[in-house]
Amino acid sequence: MPELPEVETTARGLRAQILGTRVTRVGGVDWPRIVVNATEELLQAVLQAQQVTEVGRRGKYLTISFDTGPVLVLHRKMSGNVLLTPSDMPIQKHTHLIVTLSDGRDVRLVDPRKFSRVYLFESTDLADVFFAERLGIDPLVDLTLADLRAIMGKRSGRLKSVLLDQTAFPGMGNLYCDEALWRARVHPLRTASSLTRAEMSRLFESIRGVLEEAVERRGTSFSDYLDQNGEKGSFQEHLNAYGQEDKPCPRCGKRIKKFWLGARGTHVCPSCQRMPRQASIAARI
Ligand SMILES: [Zn+2]
Repeated sequence: MPELPEVETTARGLRAQILGTRVTRVGGVDWPRIVVNATEELLQAVLQAQQVTEVGRRGKYLTISFDTGPVLVLHRKMSGNVLLTPSDMPIQKHTHLIVTLSDGRDVRLVDPRKFSRVYLFESTDLADVFFAERLGIDPLVDLTLADLRAIMGKRSGRLKSVLLDQTAFPGMGNLYCDEALWRARVHPLRTASSLTRAEMSRLFESIRGVLEEAVERRGTSFSDYLDQNGEKGSFQEHLNAYGQEDKPCPRCGKRIKKFWLGARGTHVCPSCQRMPRQASIAARI
């Protein structure tokens, strides 16, 4: 699933390539449910001749802003990719939106599972209202140690469940949670509010560190994720905990263990990340 680093990679890649181009056509909507608050006709009417002035990311939403105000927002959910493709390339299967640009290329939304969603807002202000209702503090850009302390201090839930809460930490995702917790040497089943000051500082540095490194490595590609040029990321080659069950912990050599937290496969080093005593009874390890 594309998480924050994958969406950030796509946003940066698109920004470098499509700023200043104009929309010549919007089409290809073959599955109307994908466009949540508009229709293909409305997208075409509003975006026709608009110039791309910014490409950004809010949580896991990709945003494309235009010169007279409208904002096109794409969420790729489980398996969507946003590809920059020459307009004369054949339309590949599972393409659900095509934004044709004046430079002879298309931004195409390709998603075999059709979970991706498209939104159109008339202005940045309206887009901001939409995001404010859904997203917490961005863990890559805006999160501070004080924010993290404030959020965690109020939560009685398990640490990993709080980190996965999109309204608190948009875009973290299961993989990046496991990696950040491994780096911070704290167990995912700890109560969020139980962290010491030192552990909180380590967790803060780890969240930032993991996300920044994943963006540098252009995201993680296990199966579906491709960047805007159709290329894979490489962070999957640098994982320490996630997907590493039975492999030695790179820090201490003990075998990484996997257990289930709800529906989420969760990976820990039993030596570096000490489990709280109550949790050992409750967890299915
Ligand atoms: Zn270890």
